[in-house]
Parts: sequence; structure tokens; C-alpha cells
Amino acid sequence: MNNDFEDFEEEQEIEEFPKLVAIPKEFYSEATGKPFECCSVCEKGLLQPETWYMVEKAVKRYVKYNVQDIIFEYAICMECHAEMEARLSTESKQNMQEYMRSHADLEARSNAFYDCENFDVNSWIGQCAVTRVPRAELTEYQMVASFNGDKMAYTVMPLILGMKALDEMVQLLSNKSLDELNDFKDRITGMPPDLRELFKESKFVMI
Ligand SMILES: [Zn+2]
Repeated sequence: MNNDFEDFEEEQEIEEFPKLVAIPKEFYSEATGKPFECCSVCEKGLLQPETWYMVEKAVKRYVKYNVQDIIFEYAICMECHAEMEARLSTESKQNMQEYMRSHADLEARSNAFYDCENFDVNSWIGQCAVTRVPRAELTEYQMVASFNGDKMAYTVMPLILGMKALDEMVQLLSNKSLDELNDFKDRITGMPPDLRELFKESKFVMI
């Protein structure tokens, strides 16, 4: 009987995780002022329930003037994400995973999300997940989160990575993996031409 109760508890935990909340405005498309509606690669619709996807944005901040520019933004469905990931070498992927595991303490993040009652997205993206430098002091960073339909999921994301962490992560990728990522950039649609130029020059690691 005891065992049954434990099983029941476990099922409950699985059902509750990850927690889903309304999409925060920080992860809306800057271009439309609304949540992303389709995958920036295959154009599949994203807002139906049980459609998993990620949104990634790169932001450049001019701290002195307190203004910011979006360098790039896109949404990517899990199928396209898996396809992109398959192009990276096993070694590159292991290096990245090891880097995140040893620097970002993902397990602690995940547990903190699980325990949290009040979800304020800013408390999760308020500092670089690796260096802990406050977002307000970062001149450039990337933010990423995962979504299910019209909800954002709290997993180890949302998180932000500042330039120092991104630089270190790029160093962990083989030249071939970097080439593959650069090729993949060309498949991301819906980007204005001036942003596309910035995007091509920017560091791009894909989490
Ligand atoms: Zn897609």
C-alpha cells in the first residue's frame, strides 16, 4: 500500500513538470510585438497545444544610454532543432553539455524552478547563467527559453548567456560544427536584411 502511494506521488511530480506559464513579453517577437507564430525554419505553426519549440534572441545593449538593439531573434520547432543538432559533431555537443553542466549548475536551476511558486521571468533571466553578471551590466547577451504552444515552460530555461560565456562556448565547437551552424543560419527566415547581416557576423551557439 505504501508503495502504491509513492508511485502516485511520483506520477504527480511528472505531471507537474515542467511548469507552463503565459509567454512573457520578453520572449515576444520584436518584429511583430506578439508571440512567435511559426517556426523560423520550416514555418510550421507553433501556437497549438503540445507543440514544443524554442525562442532565441540576441540583444546588444548600450549601457550608457540604456537602449538596446535586437541582433537576431527566431523560433525553432523541436524537429528543426533536432535536425540542426544532428549536424554538430558528437565531440562539440559533449563539450557544450559539459560546459553548461560545470558552469551553469543546471540541476540547481531546475530544482529552483520546481520549488518556485511565483514565476517572475526576470528573476530567471536577471543574470548570465554562467558568469552571474547581472543583465543590466551585460553589453551583449543571448536569451533562450522553451515553449509549448502558447505557454512558456520552466525547465533549466529560460536563461541568458553573456558574451564571455558565448565566447567560451564557441571555442568548444569544432570548425566543422561552426560551419554547420553558419550554414544553418541561412535557413532561418523572416529576418530583415539589416538584421541578417548582424546575425551572420554574430556568435551563434544554439543551446
Ligand atoms: Zn521547424
